[in-house]
Amino acid sequence: MGARRANEKDADRRIGRRALLIGGTAAAVGTGVLARDELARLWWRAPGVEKPRKEGEVDYTGARWVAASDANWRRADRPDDYGVDMVIIHVTQGSFDSAVKVFQDPGHGAAAHYIVGKDGTVAQMIRELDVAYHAGNRDYNERSVGIEHEGFVDRPQDFTDEMYEASALLTARICARYDIPVDREHIIGHVEVPGTDHTDPGEHWDWDRYLKLVRKARTAVA
Ligand SMILES: [Zn+2]
Repeated sequence: MGARRANEKDADRRIGRRALLIGGTAAAVGTGVLARDELARLWWRAPGVEKPRKEGEVDYTGARWVAASDANWRRADRPDDYGVDMVIIHVTQGSFDSAVKVFQDPGHGAAAHYIVGKDGTVAQMIRELDVAYHAGNRDYNERSVGIEHEGFVDRPQDFTDEMYEASALLTARICARYDIPVDREHIIGHVEVPGTDHTDPGEHWDWDRYLKLVRKARTAVA
């Protein structure tokens, strides 16, 4: 799971970008008078409002949609405003349901795009278009898709065959969609994010096995 501090920073940044976009354009025009429709057009060029969205729509057909609180992510227009070149693997340190619950809590300040259960169930809680607060690092949040896995880092038995299979299929799809290489430079653990104090997915997560499964599934979807 991610750190809370990313939340405030991201909110500040969004306001900053919008103010700059409108302010900068007005200055360039010089007179300070901007036609109303032009201003409206420019406003709509701000990140996050380009692509049509449907309530309940998922990016991965194997997932069911369960919305996270919108306090735990920010609207964006990826991969147009931020390129996506990374998948970040997490472990929830709790049950599937408890992860869903905290991601729906506006006070939590963090959430991932997906949760994969021990039985292979996949929930999508944030669209891949949007920036989820899961890595505790703004740059890594903007460029990655975050996947949580039900269980505890010190309980290897939590990482079931069904979970590895389901997660690998999901990651393979993400890699195919954004042309992300299937390697440990681009599929990383939360522990590998610079500045993090999180240890997930931990020493029991079998990276060799996981990468092998992702590669196999990636070949199949190619
Ligand atoms: Zn994590």
